[in-house]
Amino acid sequence: MKKGQINVQTENIFPIIKKFLYSDHEIFLRELVSNAVDATQKLRVLSSSGEFKGELGDLKVEVILDKDARTLTIRDNGVGMTADEIDKYINQIAFSGAEEFVQQYKGKEGAEQIIGHFGLGFYSAFMVAERVQIQTLSRHEGSQSVQWESNGNPEFTIEEIEKKDRGTDIVLYIAEDSLEFLEESRIRGILDKYCKFLPIPVVFGKETI
Ligand code: ADP
Ligand code: MG
Repeated sequence: MKKGQINVQTENIFPIIKKFLYSDHEIFLRELVSNAVDATQKLRVLSSSGEFKGELGDLKVEVILDKDARTLTIRDNGVGMTADEIDKYINQIAFSGAEEFVQQYKGKEGAEQIIGHFGLGFYSAFMVAERVQIQTLSRHEGSQSVQWESNGNPEFTIEEIEKKDRGTDIVLYIAEDSLEFLEESRIRGILDKYCKFLPIPVVFGKETI
């Protein structure tokens, strides 16, 4: 197991994210589903260009609620990530001056676009989760599957795991103040609001959005 620090330049960006988007916590799901969809679309592109030679399978996103474990999981069978890719795309979030920028726009309309603009899409998970895991197996043949985990400190750990299926699970351990996101009806409502008309099916329980 390796430990490290997410490369944020402000001391701790997560409380800022949380405060800033206080009224809009539900958008975390849109961000994570859209990342999952992106991952499948990237694989499609790599497949048609011949760079990915494996089976695409049924590309889809699954949203899985586990009330007992208090987790919400967003699963895709897209490109996945290697440990190096996690380092590059998740750990090295360089957004110098983001804090001042965020302060400037606080309370203004379009706040959520700004978060998207800074590539904070993934980190919006920390608005509702006290702990987040990324479990992922890359599309590259013979890849080692890995798990990244953080409670937003901003320390993280990364370790090797056994994951057989290509793609990524984002596992959110829902925080005490966000238990509404363990309610099926709440999740269905958000999916209906933000996750319709996507290029691949989003499956929630027995339902396809
Ligand atoms: P953005 O989507 O704007 O690039 P995010 O913070 O939402 O910013 O995601 C950062 C990066 O992390 C993505 O660009 C992608 O490389 C990687 N990533 C996030 N989620 C996934 C996923 N489910 N599968 C593969 N890569 C992912
Ligand atoms: Mg994104």
